[in-house]
Amino acid sequence: MTHFMQEMTWKEYASCADKIVILPIGATEQHGEHLPLCVDAVLAEGFSLKLAEQIDGIIMPTLRYGYKSKPMSGGGPLFPGTVDLNGETVIKLVYDVLTEIIRDGFTKILIMNAHFENEAFIVEAMDLVTRDTNGIAKILETNWWDPMPSHIIDQVFDEIPFPGWALEHAAVTETSLMLYFKPELVHMDRITDTKNAEYMPYYRYPICKSDIPETGTLASAASSSFERGKLIVDSVLHELVRICEKEFNK
Ligand SMILES: [Zn+2]
Repeated sequence: MTHFMQEMTWKEYASCADKIVILPIGATEQHGEHLPLCVDAVLAEGFSLKLAEQIDGIIMPTLRYGYKSKPMSGGGPLFPGTVDLNGETVIKLVYDVLTEIIRDGFTKILIMNAHFENEAFIVEAMDLVTRDTNGIAKILETNWWDPMPSHIIDQVFDEIPFPGWALEHAAVTETSLMLYFKPELVHMDRITDTKNAEYMPYYRYPICKSDIPETGTLASAASSSFERGKLIVDSVLHELVRICEKEFNK
């Protein structure tokens, strides 16, 4: 049977209430000149499917819009194609979806986030839903970067230094993961080895486009490869399965 909830009949879906349900959340956001706008949605769904195959989970329809892109982590809102939601919208969207999942009888929920800026708003929705449903469901939120073991980061960045997660936007990890999940959407010939964005340890509004490299890539993507993508997927998947076993006894 399919792992995708939207491909099931309502009876098939209803019969799965004892399974782990995975909610992928991404964004629609610029990812440099060599990657499509759907990167975060593709990665959220890609990891969700890999995980669902291992734990026999159910995947909810991917939420493909996210919280505002920030200049120092996503290039910001001044690039065409970055379609941002206000924080309040993200909280309400996630709140409503979680409430409906719980109403359908599911009590094991894992949110697979692939857009850094979403996290605080997702966690707020989790807290509000938990209060309003008396904690009847266990809800987890994770992503693909936090569970990644540090020795894997060293292996992925064996050619160039790791610039830190914030600047790793449209760079080696996301490009390698796209080469793994959807290579037909990656334009390797358009990668220009631009200088890293200069990290600003503070927020400043109004946002200034000249803070960000013109391509929208915050660090070099030059050493990206399918093999590096596979290395990340295999190691993160292993950790995600372990998290599910620990938290859901599955
Ligand atoms: Zn991204």
